[in-house]
Amino acid sequence: MFRCPVCDVEFQRLEYEGFPVLRCHACLGYLISRNRMESVRRVQATSVSQLQDEALAEKRDDTNDPLKCPRCRGAMRKEFIEEPASFFIDTCRACELVWFDGGELARLQLSYEISPKGREAAEYQRRMREMTVEQREQFERNLALLPKGDASVLSGFGATLLESLLRFFHASP
Ligand SMILES: [Zn+2]
Ligand SMILES: [Zn+2]
Repeated sequence: MFRCPVCDVEFQRLEYEGFPVLRCHACLGYLISRNRMESVRRVQATSVSQLQDEALAEKRDDTNDPLKCPRCRGAMRKEFIEEPASFFIDTCRACELVWFDGGELARLQLSYEISPKGREAAEYQRRMREMTVEQREQFERNLALLPKGDASVLSGFGATLLESLLRFFHASP
């Protein structure tokens, strides 16, 4: 089993949002394959408040030192994840692996929830859950008629969630 690039303890194998990951129980970081990063980011199974709790409770500082890839032992490269997530990940190109320090994976997911795409997806899912089968069919027909990029599906989107997310990212840089 690979070892944590920060604390050198053995990883635990577990699932995160349904995806296999390696986790360090000491520093709470995650090692995941690069091609799963986008899927994990887009999962909306965990509630926003749960993600916020996780991001805060498990928060560790970005590692400044260059890390060695747990698999090939080569030097990992720092890569900046842009606003509002705003942190560095450590990546190995050769192994296609990405290291997230504690709390960063939850932060990455939160940053998706706040994005226009994420809000649209959440609103879409919320409406779908509340609709009867007939309403759902009607809604999908209407949606198909909309011009591409039309934001009408977002009308009525609750501002509360968005505001609480914005506050969260402001309070915890
Ligand atoms: Zn560790
Ligand atoms: Zn590697």
